[in-house]
Amino acid sequence: MNVMAIGAHPDDIEFGCSGTLMKHKERGDKVVYVCMTSTESKSGTSGKVLRSLEQLSSEVKCATDLIGCDYVEFASFTDLHVPFNFESVSTLDGMIQTYKIDTVYTHWAGDSNQDHIATFKATMAAARYVPNVYCYEQIPIPRHTENEMNVNYYSDITDYMESKLEVAKCHKSQIEKYKKEGFDVPHRLKVLAEFRGIQANCDYAEGFNVIKMVDKLLWPRLEVQADDVAKALGHMDTEGDYITEPNTEDGNEFDIMKAWK
Ligand SMILES: [Zn+2]
Repeated sequence: MNVMAIGAHPDDIEFGCSGTLMKHKERGDKVVYVCMTSTESKSGTSGKVLRSLEQLSSEVKCATDLIGCDYVEFASFTDLHVPFNFESVSTLDGMIQTYKIDTVYTHWAGDSNQDHIATFKATMAAARYVPNVYCYEQIPIPRHTENEMNVNYYSDITDYMESKLEVAKCHKSQIEKYKKEGFDVPHRLKVLAEFRGIQANCDYAEGFNVIKMVDKLLWPRLEVQADDVAKALGHMDTEGDYITEPNTEDGNEFDIMKAWK
């Protein structure tokens, strides 16, 4: 699978779905990280710099290295001013085509941050041909929204919980910013994952809202399973080619496996 995670700001992807991205990497999928903004972050009211360009660069590198992202892309939009227009849609459209993306993770439609909402809308337009589109949750801090997020897909990240926290802690500038406001973000990420885990019947989970999921991608997985069975039965050589005349009496099984291909 070719996976693209899209976030308006550095840290959105990490807080929202880095556990699941690490699962993708473990499974051998290609993971592309896309951040829509590439400017320093300033407070909209005080003008104080909340994340310098240097911090942006070093924190994203720390996080994407830990996740194991294959590619890291920055769009050229300004923090707090991400647009939903031709530029943002065509930027994502181009990246989706370049990397032949079949699975996208992005913000959620009911999010309260204007950059997140614009990124969601731009993703929806750009990902119109992408078979699988999922929305991840926003950072667990007080944010009022009109609609509760409808979590209808869970990813068990029990084995990745500690790694996810390490990834999140790469964003020191943001962890410190929220700490001053009284929010312990790593702790809250763990609490949220535990809550989603209770719903999903596992220790820790990430919750998603499914925009669409096209099941044709199940077939390549079945092929992988068929290959594993073929190897186990001696019907496949070390190069991954089926043996046309296997030295076995299980002819029927072999025919069935050929049919799967
Ligand atoms: Zn954000």
